[in-house]
Amino acid sequence: MSVVGIVPAAGAGERLGADVPKAFAVLGGRPMLEWSLDVLREVCDRVVVAVPPDRAAPPDFVPGGATRSASVRAALDAAPEASVVVVHDAARPLVTAELVRRCIDALEGFDGAIAALPVTDTVKVVDGAEIIRTPDRGRLWAAQTPQVFRAEALRRTSGEGTDDAALVEATGGRVCVVEGIPENFKVTTPLDMRIAEMLLC
Ligand code: C5P
Repeated sequence: MSVVGIVPAAGAGERLGADVPKAFAVLGGRPMLEWSLDVLREVCDRVVVAVPPDRAAPPDFVPGGATRSASVRAALDAAPEASVVVVHDAARPLVTAELVRRCIDALEGFDGAIAALPVTDTVKVVDGAEIIRTPDRGRLWAAQTPQVFRAEALRRTSGEGTDDAALVEATGGRVCVVEGIPENFKVTTPLDMRIAEMLLC
């Protein structure tokens, strides 16, 4: 079994307002990306990172695409040896090796296993400003990464999604949730950067 980590890190991160792409913004004295790389390298045989084209350094730092899904696909294409793929966003620097291992272990009997947390807020489906529906909160989970897949299940996917599990689900793949950890939040805003910095340092 060859476990390959894939890190989409090619986003601009406009909501962060930094002068470099989000994955390269300095967090706790080093580029944000490096926190995730340390953890993935502990668990995976190899890690392939999708980066902005001007930062590419093959074979492990490949040019990303215009969307998150395109970046994941570019990294996957560079890892033909993978039998298990661990996709993890560079924007979640507080991931732990323990969480990655729990997702890999949960793959037994599934095509994918993803870190996720039960939602604590009530979620509304809205059209314009009007609420259309209030889904049963008891069945809602917020998806995180790592998202672990049998490589062939991820290779079969196409199209765009805000996570990779959605693409595997769309092909009929079975994906399960693994209870994640709240500190594995996605760094999106300057406030998130400050919180992540406090937790890392
Ligand atoms: O935009 P969002 O926060 O959902 O991005 C999640 C992850 O996907 C980030 O790590 C970002 O760098 C990555 N991404 C990418 N290529 C893109 C857009 C986003 O690798 N074109």
